[in-house]
Amino acid sequence: MPIATVNPANGETLRTFDELGAEGIERRLATATAAFRTYRTTDLPERARLMARAADLLEQDEDAVARTMTTEMGKPLAAARAEAAKCVKAMRWYAGHAEILLADEHPSETEVKDSGASRARVHYRPLGVVLAVMPWNFPLWQVVRFAAPALMAGNTGLLKHASNVPQTALYLEDLFRRAGYPDGCFQTLLVGSGAVEAILRDPRVAAATLTGSEPAGRSVAAVAGEEIKKTVLELGGSDPYVVMPSADIDRAARTAVTARVQNNGQSCIAAKRFIVHTDVYDAFAERFTAGMAALTVGDPMADTTDVGPLASEQGRADLEELVDDAVRRGATALCGGQRPADLPRGWFYTPTVLAGITPDMRIHHEEAFGPVATLYRADSLDEAVALANDTPFGLSSNVWTRDAAEQERFVRDIEAGGVFFNGMTASHPALPFGGVKRSGYGRELSGHGIREFCNVTTVWHG
Ligand code: NDP
Repeated sequence: MPIATVNPANGETLRTFDELGAEGIERRLATATAAFRTYRTTDLPERARLMARAADLLEQDEDAVARTMTTEMGKPLAAARAEAAKCVKAMRWYAGHAEILLADEHPSETEVKDSGASRARVHYRPLGVVLAVMPWNFPLWQVVRFAAPALMAGNTGLLKHASNVPQTALYLEDLFRRAGYPDGCFQTLLVGSGAVEAILRDPRVAAATLTGSEPAGRSVAAVAGEEIKKTVLELGGSDPYVVMPSADIDRAARTAVTARVQNNGQSCIAAKRFIVHTDVYDAFAERFTAGMAALTVGDPMADTTDVGPLASEQGRADLEELVDDAVRRGATALCGGQRPADLPRGWFYTPTVLAGITPDMRIHHEEAFGPVATLYRADSLDEAVALANDTPFGLSSNVWTRDAAEQERFVRDIEAGGVFFNGMTASHPALPFGGVKRSGYGRELSGHGIREFCNVTTVWHG
């Protein structure tokens, strides 16, 4: 894929970039390594000062960087602004909390004695240069939720961003430079995915984090496995959205629309499979479909737009194939199911609800990365749980029920990294984020996220 800004709302190539050559990569690796040697010794108040400064700058840049993101990947401008604001919040959260999150841990006196020590503690040290392979869907947020904890822990970062968001990638490097970070603490590598393996194998790179598709994750994890390097993987999701009879159906249906089409439907934690108890199925299906059909699809720069284009032509083709396969095998499109006729340019797709899904359809077990929802009817709680788990993914889940016993049952049995009741999944700096099964491993955000790229060091005194 060429490294370029191509506006998905009209298909126009706005800027192309030369890929960094071997010499450029080498220079950046050397700079990142040199920076780590000194940056790792900075104290937490100094790191917090730099992070807070970067947050202030990003806050000032909110509108400009939001426009860049919308131009590069098509999310509605209001959502892009909200993404920038969320990054500011996460940066400030880590600036304010890293000292507590990375504080030494002390075993009890009895345990210390039992280990034969006079004193013992657990101490968190940084790992080194961390490579971040990131996707285009939240071009700022995906990077910041890696960079804020990694930098606060004393690591340095190398960003290989998706090839279709180069301007956002360069903005991020510039942001940390302007904030006063020493040279090499955070650098962008304008390279294609083919360059990742050699960079990851370089002994100067300590670890990697990847957010993206399963094939990309598998490839990076395989190389890192050979090199015995730590990885965190945040891959796809096909989150269930379960609606039980005790739910507030109106609210559940309204939230379901947002949960499905946020970010033009291209979010790993978007609700994708809507599993509805038979007692409330008809009421929910009617309201949800009406909500999806009422969305305004169009220019992502316009305030009135709910759903912009998909980020790439290929992304739309993949989505169309999933829908066409389902319809061919007997699914019914309650709304949508095709491109909007009035938007011939750009990579738009009409918000779609598919009912009558069967396990032989690809969409039953693959991720639909766009504004397409699948509806399932469940006759019982057991069936709802079974359907929720009938997927290779396990990122997060949403359950609408006011029954406490049912809630406990879902907490016990849903195979996912999160269970959100009576609301939709959203990430927050204080809450861990990540999945199980094919959705990946490791956690981002919270104390769990910052400690992923730390050397958890036992300090023992005889
Ligand atoms: P990719 O996984 O291909 O891209 C994500 C990042 O990984 C990009 O930086 C990409 O670089 C890089 N990459 C791709 N292949 C490799 C590889 N073999 N080794 C190292 N790095 C690699 O996502 P796509 O954009 O192709 O989207 C395809 C599907 O992935 C979507 O339809 C969706 O299902 C899923 N996806 C999930 C995301 C999530 O948030 N969990 C985000 C994005 C996609 P480059 O851009 O240069 O190819």
